[in-house]
Amino acid sequence: MVYGSHVAVFGCKGCRKCISICGENAIFCSAGRVQIDMQKCNACGQCVSHCPNKALLLMD
Ligand code: SF4
Ligand code: SF4
Repeated sequence: MVYGSHVAVFGCKGCRKCISICGENAIFCSAGRVQIDMQKCNACGQCVSHCPNKALLLMD
């Protein structure tokens, strides 16, 4: 599991759908899966609700 500041990524399939959803440009793709830029993420949760594979988890 890879942790950003507010979002954990687990089981990403690399479809990239979440990247354009993020209004903070906090999501980027590396080695076929996404990672969260801890400096940019504001925990809005948009990516979590849009991932078709439920690979993103909002953390408190
Ligand atoms: S939408 Fe989900 S499966 Fe697709 S790239 Fe983003 S985290 Fe990975
Ligand atoms: S929680 Fe919001 S700001 Fe953070 S990565 Fe997801 S869409 Fe971007």
